Parts: sequence; structure tokens; C-alpha cells
Amino acid sequence: MASPVEFTDEVLEAGLNKARLSLVGRLLCSSHPSRIRAQHMANNIWAKRAAVTVLDAGFRLFQFVFANQVDYNEALGKAPWFIQSKILTFKRWETPSEELFQELARVPYSVQLWNLPEEYRTVALGALLAARLGTVEDAAMYAVWESPGCVFRARVKIDVSAPLEHRLEARKRNPDGSAGPSFWVSLRYEGVKTVCYRCRRIGHNQHNCPFELIARDDGFGPEIIGNKTGPKINEFSYASV
Ligand SMILES: [Zn+2]
Repeated sequence: MASPVEFTDEVLEAGLNKARLSLVGRLLCSSHPSRIRAQHMANNIWAKRAAVTVLDAGFRLFQFVFANQVDYNEALGKAPWFIQSKILTFKRWETPSEELFQELARVPYSVQLWNLPEEYRTVALGALLAARLGTVEDAAMYAVWESPGCVFRARVKIDVSAPLEHRLEARKRNPDGSAGPSFWVSLRYEGVKTVCYRCRRIGHNQHNCPFELIARDDGFGPEIIGNKTGPKINEFSYASV
């Protein structure tokens, strides 16, 4: 049998250069968009420089090939992009897969937990609650101007393709195994500029909502947008803040 054809990086130069300036992206909207639509959206963002070519990458993902490093860095650094009723998320180029498609729907947001009784305001309980929303990347207590003086805040990767949760139900399990009464914890999301009160998704408003209405009888409103908190504080010393 003949020996395998051998090659080095030199013959791959064109492909490696293309991959180096490529991002894999997902365009989140009500139905899977065409490549033409994704290219049109990219042209709207980088119109002046005509800097990007969009290719189908399989798995309902797109390959965005940039002409230069500056546009590539901007696209990655400012992701996710919000345009009209769509969200465009990016990652450095890697081989597309179903897992990557799912991963690109998850975007990190800072989430605050409100309405917790005084003795329940711990990082451990906050992290447990926040984990219900997605992958918790960072969690701590922060000072706030409003009473009661501190709030739990976590950086959580949430699925922006799904409606936002605006509250979580929690219940304490007593030492004897019995369950205490349940209560609701309110959620506030920092840095959310546009939210739809119709379908409860980030990135567009109710006037151009492509999704189905979710009943609005349980208080989902502007209060889910959180103000910036004060500095991080030690959870055992906040009483003196
Ligand atoms: Zn909507």
C-alpha cells in the first residue's frame, strides 16, 4: 500500500489565514435565517468597510470571515449584537456542532436577586438560585443604594433564545425533612437595553415581536432591568456598610 500523502502547515496557509479571521456565529430570530439574510445583517453592521463574508457553516450556524483584524476584534469584543428583533452571537472559529449551536444561545448577564429575607442573603443560597437560570460564572454580595443595603449578584450565562425568567420560587427544607413555605425571589438583569414585554425575550421590543404572546398577568415589566450596583462586599460585613 502507498504511504499517506504528507503535508505541512505551509500548504494550509490560505485555510489557516481564513480560519484565523473567522468567527462562528448564530443569528437568533424566530426561524432559522438564510445565509443571504445573515450576510445582509453583517453588511448593516460593517457597512462602511464591506469587511465580512458570511458562509453557511452547517448546524444552523454561519462562518463570518473578516477582511482584517480590527473588524474581527470588534465583532468578537462587542458580541452579542442586537439588531432589530435579532441577536447575533459570536465565538472564535471552531468546528460547528449541535453543542456549539446550543452554546451560542447562552450570553452572560449580571443578574440580581431581590426580596430575599435578611438571613437568606448569602452567596451560597444566591448561587443555588442563580444556577436555575444558567451557568453561574461569578457570584457575590454587592452594596446598593436602596434599602436593605446589599444584594446578591451573579454573572450567569443565560439562554437568550428563551423567554426571561423574572422570578424564582424557593422553599427551605427543614432539618426534620419537612418543607417550609415557598416564597418568590425577584430577578433583575443589568445591561438589558431592550426587552419585549410580549414574549419576554431580550433584544427587541413588543412593537416588532416575531414571537407568540406570553400572558402578562404576573408582573413582568420594566422592573426586571436592574440598576448598576455598588462595590462588591464581604457578606459578613454588609450590616456596617
Ligand atoms: Zn417579543
